[in-house]
Amino acid sequence: MVQKNDEFKLKITGYTSEGGGVGKFDGQAIFVENTAVGDEVLCHVIKAKKTYAVGKAIKIIKPSKDRIEPQCDAFRSCGGCSFGHIKYEAELEYKAQKVKDAFERIGGLSPEFKPIVASPETARYRNKAQYPVRRENGILSIGFYAKKSHRVIDGGDCLLQPEEFTEIIDIFKAWINENSITVYNEEIGIGLLRHIYLRKAFATGEIMVCAVINGTTLPHCDSLLEKLSSVDGFKTLVANINREKTNVVLGEKCINIYGDGYITDILCGVKIKLSPLSFYQVNRNGAELLYKKAAEYAAPTTEQTILDLYCGTGTIGLSMANSVKELIGVEIIPEAIEDARVNAQLNNITNARFICGDASVAAEELKNEGIKPDTVILDPPRKGCAEELLKTVSQINPQKIVYVSCDPATLARDCARLLDLGYKVKEVTPVDMFPRTHHVESVALLDKKGI
Ligand code: SAH
Repeated sequence: MVQKNDEFKLKITGYTSEGGGVGKFDGQAIFVENTAVGDEVLCHVIKAKKTYAVGKAIKIIKPSKDRIEPQCDAFRSCGGCSFGHIKYEAELEYKAQKVKDAFERIGGLSPEFKPIVASPETARYRNKAQYPVRRENGILSIGFYAKKSHRVIDGGDCLLQPEEFTEIIDIFKAWINENSITVYNEEIGIGLLRHIYLRKAFATGEIMVCAVINGTTLPHCDSLLEKLSSVDGFKTLVANINREKTNVVLGEKCINIYGDGYITDILCGVKIKLSPLSFYQVNRNGAELLYKKAAEYAAPTTEQTILDLYCGTGTIGLSMANSVKELIGVEIIPEAIEDARVNAQLNNITNARFICGDASVAAEELKNEGIKPDTVILDPPRKGCAEELLKTVSQINPQKIVYVSCDPATLARDCARLLDLGYKVKEVTPVDMFPRTHHVESVALLDKKGI
């Protein structure tokens, strides 16, 4: 059996679901971070367990053909990216396989898979960042969490984020130092500034700056605003109040300091109002491809009703609203539902209504009202759909279900449950919305069995 501190030559033969490399030695799985399939490495064992071991590549003896030089200096220490070191084609192949594996292993299903849709950009594609702010031994850091830790690595210029975000972080650093702004210490729960949360609307260039604070007011706002006014596209400054001792980044209350408190993007031709607390896909250009695929699967007609469950600010449903008779959206966050209603108005969409509530409860109520949607869209958070929701959806009895998911494991589980409830997966398209990370989005089309 492999022991701690053993060293041996190891061939990397696969990736874990988190994107780490894995090889076999003496019949045992050895996990080695930052390696690529095809690498031959000198592996030093840092942790040995009964059934597996964790190693570190101390030397790459023969590099994989998929290897590239990471573009980002922080790649090895930062926990943000898993795939700074392999070609994008290899990353796409891994993601397509990950979705297939989930369907087979978790769902026991092997539907038809379409080729993975690549992200239009692999760098600077994100429109949202939440930077933790820390001061340790007097040194201020604003950046990202290190791998599996709450240590903050100074962000520098993250290559996934828009360039303006780096400029704004530098502005905050100067402002904190010039005005002696206190920084939150998560161990003792004291200090003001916790996170800097930024959003950019790619279609309009508008930028939202949100300071997450352990307090009720943001001091020295004028000097901050003066500095921010030099940033191209800066539109609004908001303070988010978070006084809880928690890992959750955002509190429930936002105070508008400058501008309207929101920015506007355009997605699939639909104007979208974005407030700080509303969900919005982080890769806008990728989201357009995802929603186009969802629309292709839904193939709506003007006689049809569509039920968009977990609708956020209404984005998916609104992109189809002009082709349907009626659109009903359901979402649990009140601010997102308010945005969805405003979005309908902004786009002169009059055939949509939005319900704020838990998807399971609202679906049950809609069923009791006798609503008969032709297509149900599901786009839940990573944990997937509640079992009772799937049951209710099957009782509502739509012809089609279009399931958009950011977690292949829960998607596969829910598709297996839906099969028992009478719905068969016809086709799945993986869509890469998160280049350089191990995350992958998918959209699945299900229809009634035997029809
Ligand atoms: N379809 C939207 C949002 C998808 S993200 C888009 O593409 O932009 C998932 C959404 O589900 C989030 O907006 C989240 O607030 C919402 N949500 C989470 N749990 C929910 C629940 N139990 N009932 C209804 N909505 C929920």
